[in-house]
Amino acid sequence: MLQPVNPSGNPVARTFASLCANLVMTATVLIATVMTATGPADAAPESEFSVGAGIHDITGPVADVMMMGYVDLKQTTRGIHTRLNSRAFVIEHAPTGKRAVMVTIDQLSVPDAVKTTVLEKLRSRFGDLYSVENTLMSATHTHSGPGGFSHYVLYDVFSAKGFSEQNFKAIVDGIYASIVKAHQNLTPAVIFFAEGQLDQANISRSADAYLLNPTSERSQHNHNVDKTMTLLKFTATNGTPIGILNWFAVHAVSMKKTNRLISSDNKGWASLLFEKALGRDYRQPDGFVAAFANSNAGDVSPSSGGAHTDVNGDWVCALKDNFKCTESIARKQYQRAVELYRQANETLSGGLDFRHKFVDMSQVLVRSEFANSPDGLDQRTCFAGIGLSMLAGTKDGWGIGREKQTCSDPSLLGGVLCSFRSCHGEKPVVLATGLKTPYPWTPQILPLQIMRLGSLAIIAVPAEFTTMSGRRLRNTVQSILAKMGVRHAVIAGYSNSYAGYVATREEYQMQNYEGASTHFGEWTLAAYQQEFAGLAQAMSEQADSDSGPNPLDSREMREIRTPLIQKLDRLPRNASFGGILTQAKPAYVAGETVAVDFWAGHPNNDLMHQRSYLEVQKVEGNQWISVAMDWDIETQFIWTPRTLGAGKATVQWSIPLGQAPGNYRIVHRGVARPNLRDRIPYQGVSRTFQVR
Ligand SMILES: [Zn+2]
Repeated sequence: MLQPVNPSGNPVARTFASLCANLVMTATVLIATVMTATGPADAAPESEFSVGAGIHDITGPVADVMMMGYVDLKQTTRGIHTRLNSRAFVIEHAPTGKRAVMVTIDQLSVPDAVKTTVLEKLRSRFGDLYSVENTLMSATHTHSGPGGFSHYVLYDVFSAKGFSEQNFKAIVDGIYASIVKAHQNLTPAVIFFAEGQLDQANISRSADAYLLNPTSERSQHNHNVDKTMTLLKFTATNGTPIGILNWFAVHAVSMKKTNRLISSDNKGWASLLFEKALGRDYRQPDGFVAAFANSNAGDVSPSSGGAHTDVNGDWVCALKDNFKCTESIARKQYQRAVELYRQANETLSGGLDFRHKFVDMSQVLVRSEFANSPDGLDQRTCFAGIGLSMLAGTKDGWGIGREKQTCSDPSLLGGVLCSFRSCHGEKPVVLATGLKTPYPWTPQILPLQIMRLGSLAIIAVPAEFTTMSGRRLRNTVQSILAKMGVRHAVIAGYSNSYAGYVATREEYQMQNYEGASTHFGEWTLAAYQQEFAGLAQAMSEQADSDSGPNPLDSREMREIRTPLIQKLDRLPRNASFGGILTQAKPAYVAGETVAVDFWAGHPNNDLMHQRSYLEVQKVEGNQWISVAMDWDIETQFIWTPRTLGAGKATVQWSIPLGQAPGNYRIVHRGVARPNLRDRIPYQGVSRTFQVR
């Protein structure tokens, strides 16, 4: 029988326990540091900005929906390890009244329809305050979230077995709510900047393709992946910590496709660590927000520490366990962020600005200065097409076939697939998504955006740039903006839409997964550089930028869905919703895992946003107080369907080391649908057990 969770068994409990013990110490140190570094006495430097932060739940269908990322039909959701969140910052430049919104969501990508729908909701409440131009939405790229929230056929039908209205709504409503909170929390604040190296947290998964980049270019860098973490620290002028937003390039694939629990992966886990350390209570509308965003992670795996593989042959970290690998990369990012948070003393100043334009990436005439081609001529991008080697997947999750299938390979059935050779070069096109009618199967009119916060340029790209692609684009933008004092540039990956990968032209020739997933041909990166140069130029001249062609509203194509047939929750005789199937033991010691099974309604009946399917409670006096919820790392909510009728919900709590001794109990809450008419909220409570 398939055991959907915790493939390693008990060791997770120890990891969580040690983590929590460390956390208490770190929290104390952090809070102490915050108090001394930015306490009221020495705080309140003059600030030109106001900043507000907000966080809200975006967790989608908890059961039965295919996870988005690995394209594995068997990997459907079966519960929650950590909830998915949207983390928003609203930044206002006081002297000009200009605003920017920066959102990071725990999901694979941000489809354009998600952003469009959120903006419509914002417009009905705030008028023109938040727009496509000043709102940046990025995804962390976790592969352990439910899919079906894009309307494009490749990302809907092929990656998620169809569109899920419930998921789309969960994501849109959650992002909207996070921005509203950030808006309401706006307060005068200082923005500190820090940058530093983070080692042993990422590794190239396409090192051979990277080697095709010119030696002169590679010799300027010590590594074949970027190791820099770029961090913003927001502190109110009265000394109150508001939040952090940082970027570090690493794929959020520490959880492999053997995982069935919704998880925000290494990025979201790092966020939870930081937020908890600063006392965040997720039930409150305000409090500290720590967003760990992604960057040019196209060819960057989290499986550092040597070559290890799981049962599917996919790369895992040396710890060879989903939870431990995720924790390990999360903690490295978290700890580096803590250090940068303490060190950050450069304040950003010099205004806030943004430029945005839509570009039809399928027909860009790339001028020779950007193409830098052997023949010295202008070049053209072409319609979106998927290369044969994309089917192969990557070391982080293999698919079918193999990488490196090029049009020069005599063993390839060439002919048909390479009929577009003049346009797609070495890429044998297995799926011409851009030529599909009535709508393309992947977007071609894409949003390009630059935000400037003082001396930092944030370059928002709707794709997965490889390491060297990101470096080239940063150089392009920074060299233009340098004259207006921009000293730092960062790639905000997975932003505002999603259209595959961007490999350099040299990497593209090898047709690894990243090259095969570079949609618009070998001049794709050069086209991005050229168009971003235009945006940067407009910004540097204080000129308006052309807004570009109207993008397709992908919501028009919402005809492809897989109807999710959800069974009614029928109980066997003598059973009740919330009734106990497996009871807790009478007593535990810290480090052990409590597990209780309940009769349960289908979790998709109510996604319990900002609430919880579970609660660990402790007796204090004559009251039960809350100790842990389903968003906490030490808990798991596991759904097990039954062939007939109602299913089983398992609540697990890995008792952290140092947990106070006392009397505890486990509560499970849900909503049952025993017939088509009724939706019945229910609750189940375990026996009281002792933690010694
Ligand atoms: Zn990816």
